[in-house]
Amino acid sequence: MTRHPSAPGAFSEPPKKSLGQNFLHERGVVERIVHAVNPKPGERLVEIGPGQGAMTFPLLDRHGALTAIEFDRDLLTPLTMQAASHGALTLIHANVLDVDLTALAAGAPIRLVGNLPYNLSSPILFHALEHAASITDMHFMLQKEVVERMAAGPGSKVYGRLSVMLQAYCEVTMLFVVGPGAFRPPPKVDSAIVRLVPRPAHTVGIDDAQRFSDVVRAAFGQRRKTLRNALSTVMDGDAITAAGIDPQTRAEQLAVADFVRLANHRTPA
Ligand code: SAM
Repeated sequence: MTRHPSAPGAFSEPPKKSLGQNFLHERGVVERIVHAVNPKPGERLVEIGPGQGAMTFPLLDRHGALTAIEFDRDLLTPLTMQAASHGALTLIHANVLDVDLTALAAGAPIRLVGNLPYNLSSPILFHALEHAASITDMHFMLQKEVVERMAAGPGSKVYGRLSVMLQAYCEVTMLFVVGPGAFRPPPKVDSAIVRLVPRPAHTVGIDDAQRFSDVVRAAFGQRRKTLRNALSTVMDGDAITAAGIDPQTRAEQLAVADFVRLANHRTPA
């Protein structure tokens, strides 16, 4: 059997599992995402992982221009060629984790969208958080289970470090669930679209971001332990009490604002 080379501009490579390539093909889902993003004239959209353009081309049709960051070299030529009839695509060949989103924004905030590679969900979310001041909002497709953790509140079994870290800096809203059949190949799990809106910096109230991250990490590192035990490496029981929190409670019972109070508390010298 002779293999004919594909026409230039065609997506010819099979999806790469290692890059989390589950391509969206259900039109109705794409329309719901575009509707949720609802781009307005003059806004700057940046897509993470355009893949074969499932969201890119409809967003270009609607908005006229888009910047996209794609790691897979094999997708660049077909994306560029097919985008030409939809709008102005600026394609950046890079690992999104290496992209300085603040520099990319260059003073004009960006709106992030993406059906993210699920193996990199958390690193991408934390990377985006570092650049939150340059981001207006984010609409991401992620594993449903991850979105549930992101949006969970105190008392929920899935409330944890991801919930607190994201909710401290952003308003987190789960928008809708997407079944595996909307993708090729279908993932093994349900997915969901989440919206994250970074809070204005002056309302976040965290004095020291690193300290906050250390406290939250320690608290949930041993989530079944009392705060007194779980936080022993970062603060003692008296400091927890002085911050207005009972050291006998557990991390999963605390609201985000309680974590902010704990992290901001300084023992007088
Ligand atoms: N947006 C397309 C869609 O909805 O069909 C593709 C989504 S697919 C789940 C994830 C995309 O992210 C793939 O195109 C993959 O090549 C790309 N990707 C994976 N790792 C990446 C990284 N570190 N930086 C940028 N893109 C990446």
